[in-house]
Amino acid sequence: MSSLETPERTRVFPVIGLEVHAQLQTRSKMFCPCPVTVGDEANAATCPICLAFPGTLPVLNREAVTLAMRLALATGSEIHRDSRFSRKNYFYPDLPKGYQITQYDRPIATGGGIEIDTPGGSRTIRLTRIHLEEDAGKSLHDTPFADVPSTVSLVDWNRAGVPLCEIVSEPEVRTAEEAASYLTELRRLLRFIGVSDADMEKGNLRCDANVSVRLSEDEPFGTRVEIKNLNSIRFVAKAIEHEIERQAESLRRGERIVLETRLWDEKSSRTVPMRGKEEAQDYRYFPEPDLGALRIDDAWMSEAAATMPELPRARRARLLAAGVPASDAETLTSARELADYFEQTAALASTRLAANWVTGEVLRWMKERRISAEDALSFPVSPARLAGLLRMLEAGEISAASGKEVLAAMIDSPAEAAALVTEKGLGRISDAGELDRVASEIVASSPGQVALYRSGKTATFGWFVGQVMKRTGGRADPSSVREAITRALETDNG
Ligand code: ADP
Ligand code: MG
Ligand code: ZN
Repeated sequence: MSSLETPERTRVFPVIGLEVHAQLQTRSKMFCPCPVTVGDEANAATCPICLAFPGTLPVLNREAVTLAMRLALATGSEIHRDSRFSRKNYFYPDLPKGYQITQYDRPIATGGGIEIDTPGGSRTIRLTRIHLEEDAGKSLHDTPFADVPSTVSLVDWNRAGVPLCEIVSEPEVRTAEEAASYLTELRRLLRFIGVSDADMEKGNLRCDANVSVRLSEDEPFGTRVEIKNLNSIRFVAKAIEHEIERQAESLRRGERIVLETRLWDEKSSRTVPMRGKEEAQDYRYFPEPDLGALRIDDAWMSEAAATMPELPRARRARLLAAGVPASDAETLTSARELADYFEQTAALASTRLAANWVTGEVLRWMKERRISAEDALSFPVSPARLAGLLRMLEAGEISAASGKEVLAAMIDSPAEAAALVTEKGLGRISDAGELDRVASEIVASSPGQVALYRSGKTATFGWFVGQVMKRTGGRADPSSVREAITRALETDNG
C-alpha cells in the first residue's frame, strides 16, 4: 500500500455515550430519614436502615421521585406511571447491604434529550433513560488518623443511601467538545430546575464516558471502552480526547479494541486499565422485594411540573431577542439567580448597559470573592440600586470610570448612586465656564505645545484634550473639552 493512503485509512470517527450520576437535592436519604449532609463527622448520618441492619425496610423518599420527574419534564423524557426498583448485587465494603437499590428494566423515564451548541449549530443528544438509585458510602484508603496504620482502610457511610438519578445518553456524542457541551448544559439545567447542585468537585455530579471509534461513519459501532473517575468537565474532555487517540493508534497497529473499563489518570494525562470484560461483574439484578411498584398519578405529575422555571435555553433566546449580546446572554443564563439579578436590573435601566455591567463589574467582584453565580442575588448592590447608577451613566451624568468608583462605594454603603456621586464630586463637568478656565490655564502654561500646534502639528490638539481630562479626573464630556480647547487656543495670542 502506498504511504499516501495511510492518513485516509487511519482517520477515525468517534462514538461517545455519557452516563451521568447527579445527587438529588433532598433533605433526607433515599430510603431512610437520615439527613443528606456535607462534611459531617464520618458515619454521623447513619441509621439501621442505611447501615442494612437485619429486619429493616426501605421507605421511598417522595421528594427524590419528584425531582427526577422534574428533570424528565425538563428534558422532554417520557415519565412512566409505573416503574420498579431492582437489586444490583455486588460486594464492596462501602455498600452495607451487599446490593444497591436501583432501577433496571423499568426506569422512571425514557427518551427526551439535551440540546447542545456545536460549531455547526444546535443539536439534540437523545437520552436513553433517567433512573433513580441510591449512592454507596466512601472508602478512605489514606486515613486521616495517626493511630490507624496505612494498611487499614476506613469506611464512611454518610453517603450510603443518598438519592441519585442516573442520566444515560444515546451514543450520539461525536467529539470531546460535544461531550463538554453536553455536561455543561446538563449541569446548568439541573441547577436551574433545582434538582441538583451538580457540583462536580464535591462529587455531586459524576460522569462516565463510553468511547469507541470506527473507520467510517457507515460502519457499525466499534467496541467501547468505559472511562470512570472523571471529576471535572475539563478532565472528561481530556480523557475522551486521549482515549480516541489511543484507540486510533491501536487500530493503526492492527490491534483490536478490548471491551474494558479504564480510569483517567490526571497525573500522567492518560487513561489506564481498571478492569476487563472477564472481570466484569455479574450483578444478578432481580426485583427489589421490599419496595412496591412506583406509581405516579396525575396529581403527582402536576406537582412536579408546578413552579418549573423558564429553562436556560429558552431564557437565553429571550435575552438575545431583547438585545443582549450573545456572549452576555450565555453568561447571564449560566445560573437562574444571575439571570434574575440581570432581568430585575434591566427592567429599570438600559438592557445593554445592564448586560454590560452585570457580566463585567458585578461578576468580576463575585469571582474575586469566589461567590458563585447562584448567589448573585446576594450581591450587596440590589438590582434597583444598580439600575439607579446605570440610569446616571445612560444620561451622561457620570463617566464610565466614575461609575466604577461609585459602584465600589455602593458595595460598602447602602446609599443610592446619586447621593454618592454628589458626595464624591464625581458629576460630569458640563459647566462650560469651568472647562474654559482649565483649558486656558493649560494653554497659557504650555507655550512649547502651543507653538508646535501653530506650526501645523495639529496632532498636538490631542495632547491638550488629554491634559484637560487629566486635570478634571475624566469627568468632563470629551466634545465639551474639545470646544473649550478650541476657544482657549483662539483667545491665546502667544
Ligand atoms: P452499561 O450499563 O453496561 O454501561 P449501556 O448499554 O447502558 O451499558 O451503555 C452505557 C453507555 O454506553 C450509554 O451512554 C451508551 O450510549 C454508550 N454506548 C453504547 N455503545 C457504545 C459504543 N459502541 N460506543 C460508545 N458508546 C456506547
Ligand atoms: Mg456503564
Ligand atoms: Zn439512614
